[in-house]
Amino acid sequence: MIAASACLLGYCCRYDGRTSPSPALVKRAHEEAVLPICPEQLGGLPTPRTPSDLYGGDGFDVLDGRARVLDRDGRDVTKAFLKGAFSALEKLTKRNIQVCFMKDKSPS
Ligand code: SF4
Repeated sequence: MIAASACLLGYCCRYDGRTSPSPALVKRAHEEAVLPICPEQLGGLPTPRTPSDLYGGDGFDVLDGRARVLDRDGRDVTKAFLKGAFSALEKLTKRNIQVCFMKDKSPS
């Protein structure tokens, strides 16, 4: 089994309630088991939601406490993003999934 960002598989989980399907991944999901993962929803954020951006560094800096994730209304959603990231990691680890295709240009 592999995993992929849920929005790449056609799930409407993006901040704007839409999807960003990758035709190649959607096709692959019809041929083999692909676990959909949406860390933002796993972190408890609603859909649709205010989009968020990284401030002060990258995702590694967020993990180290040197950067934050703020939504465009100025709310600090760092905890939700961390919760979602660790929840996603737990799901991948539990199933021993070694390959995960993730959406680029997403703070999560
Ligand atoms: S958290 Fe990942 S899967 Fe969820 S909408 Fe954002 S990019 Fe897509």
